Amino acid sequence: MMFKKNDIYEIKITGLGNDGEGIGRVDGYTLFIKDAIPGDIIKARITKAGKSYGYARVEEIIVPSDDRVEPVCPVAARCGGCQIQHLSYEKQLEFKQNKVQNQLERIGKVKGFTMHPIMGMDNPYFYRNKSQYPVAMGKDGRIKIGFYAGRTHNVIETEKCYIGTEGNEKILSVIRNHMEVHHILPYDEVNHKGLVRHILIRKAFATGQLMVCLVINGKSYPHADSLVEQLLKFEGMTSVCLNVNREKSNVILGKEIINLYGEGYITDKIGDVAFEISPLAFYQVNPVQTVKLYQTALEYAGLTGKETVWDLYCGIGTISLFLAKSALHVKGVEIIPEAIENARNNAKLNAIDNAEFFVGKAEEVLPAYYEQQERKGIKATADVIVVDPPRKGLDIRLRETMVKMQPDRIVYVSCDSATLARDVEYLTQNGYVLTDVRTCDMFAMSGHVETVILMSRKDK
Ligand code: SAH
Repeated sequence: MMFKKNDIYEIKITGLGNDGEGIGRVDGYTLFIKDAIPGDIIKARITKAGKSYGYARVEEIIVPSDDRVEPVCPVAARCGGCQIQHLSYEKQLEFKQNKVQNQLERIGKVKGFTMHPIMGMDNPYFYRNKSQYPVAMGKDGRIKIGFYAGRTHNVIETEKCYIGTEGNEKILSVIRNHMEVHHILPYDEVNHKGLVRHILIRKAFATGQLMVCLVINGKSYPHADSLVEQLLKFEGMTSVCLNVNREKSNVILGKEIINLYGEGYITDKIGDVAFEISPLAFYQVNPVQTVKLYQTALEYAGLTGKETVWDLYCGIGTISLFLAKSALHVKGVEIIPEAIENARNNAKLNAIDNAEFFVGKAEEVLPAYYEQQERKGIKATADVIVVDPPRKGLDIRLRETMVKMQPDRIVYVSCDSATLARDVEYLTQNGYVLTDVRTCDMFAMSGHVETVILMSRKDK
């Protein structure tokens, strides 16, 4: 059968894709359908037809799935921020748990591991400590601040974001007002003109400290003093800064920070460890779940106080310092220099003196260290290696060095189960066995899931 654009088919949704889209089949042809969920019977209109699969949208829901719920957010369907608010939370968790297990079995070709129950949230709303709002000029000449609609750069105004930090809308309204009064224009990505591109707001949930960072296509923000004065009325406002981004690019943040108020960071706590966080550094967005994730990583690391631990992709040293108290020595590696500066300060802040940090790519720093030791006639080893890479997973050179160092345990924290599974296959073929898998719902209402696994040496 030939499938083409605008064809309409009646279809039952049987799966959920990585971005939360429904998956259904007509005569073996797979369709990915935004806003459809397993159990729905729908009329789907094809929007793009490829050879073996295509994309479609919901034309009509004929029989809704039993797992459908009314989204709490009025713009949930249009806004690209959430993908599966219309799926009951219980089923979201089930879907994520199954996805990770299937990918490990199918791509990783592993079996016999213990799949622990997913760690879900008691309240899956208002969980994010960080939001990046695009700013744009509306057709009516009013400044719009919100989130992009799915797959486009149309800004959907979000009065109140149900997964964001409560109260952010008041801060946004102060900034919008300040821009209007002083005729400061939002950035226009078509003409590369205008000033304000994004507004980044971060809140440290444990301490209440707030950071506001305006991402601008320029070097200064007019009447900055009066904006700072107004922002300081918000309780907890600790840092107000500018980020310079003059590139024609979708990347949100540029490299340069200009502080308008404060020291350029806010301080948060995870468990009983305190962390300074600068705007350019990565920091887990869901603090309630982060504690559970790190506690699992700590448990899997199996520390007794005698171990040498590497924490690769360490960010501001969160996992490193979380583990340092139970280890002999921790070495953290991270690519962003500002994050390593935070990590070093964070060690001092917590009086931790058995952690050291290196700036660089994990896939360069670790092999270089290994070779340098080898030249001295020393075989570099580690008891535990923790990795927490971005979605693309581990670089081949890094995997090879990890295996050469023969750690007893590898603790892998992953935000992409497909690349995790690929790396698990490699490690399984090179002397390691997957024993424990635990998923953690860091991103409720989206299709994403965080996983932490333990792999141990087969000969141990
Ligand atoms: N473990 C940290 C950070 C995890 S996010 C935490 O839990 O907070 C992944 C981190 O890897 C980011 O800080 C990112 O800047 C960093 N990173 C990305 N590519 C890298 C590479 N090739 N080498 C080292 N770090 C990298």
